[in-house]
Amino acid sequence: STLHQAKFFTTVNDLHSLPAYGMPEVAFVGRSNAGKSTAINILCNQKRLAFASKTPGRTQHINFFSLTSKETLHGYLVDLPGYGYAEVAQTSKHHWQQLLADYLVNRPTLKGVILLCDARRPFTELDQQLMDWLAPTGIPIHTLLTKADKLTRSEAAQVLQAGRAFLKGRQESAAPEGAAPYTIQLFSSLKRVGLEEAEAQILTWLNL
Ligand code: GDP
Repeated sequence: STLHQAKFFTTVNDLHSLPAYGMPEVAFVGRSNAGKSTAINILCNQKRLAFASKTPGRTQHINFFSLTSKETLHGYLVDLPGYGYAEVAQTSKHHWQQLLADYLVNRPTLKGVILLCDARRPFTELDQQLMDWLAPTGIPIHTLLTKADKLTRSEAAQVLQAGRAFLKGRQESAAPEGAAPYTIQLFSSLKRVGLEEAEAQILTWLNL
């Protein structure tokens, strides 16, 4: 898979330092502890690609990973700062919000967003805030219900169904006419559930 070619490209913590745009990007967002780093590492088949972002003091950075094959750059994966850290001070919360909202709304090469939600408590208030920012842009969102291994088969099916209904409502109320439908799936890094589906979505957005 092209995702396996992902390499650390750069890390930034203010909008002026974002790499010049050009190639398509797919961004990963989610509440801290939702399983974002683990999912990125699994999807890219690498042990510690997304662990730089977990270094204390680095949690508010945006990390870019390049996807290159046969010496051609195809696009970027973008690891956005996790949100919902209880211990983060108000000023840095504000900084985070500004950085995240500005990136999401003003990045013409952003083709899609992977939203990671713990399957046991999906679509928290902060998840919904993020969806509110994105809705007017029409940028598609694909939700991974993570740690699905922690649910029974029937619980997982119920969560998925409820998630679909929730997203349908959001789409109808908030997304512009003709916007790509929001999609959702179960995911487990631990049990390797849903990897192919997630990968296919990312590669489609990147035109690969
Ligand atoms: P992040 O803060 O969103 O980047 O979350 P991490 O990837 O660091 O994961 C947070 C915690 O959840 C860690 O203890 C992981 O080991 C655990 N975790 C991540 N993915 C899974 C999964 O698929 N199943 C289970 N059971 N635990 C997971």
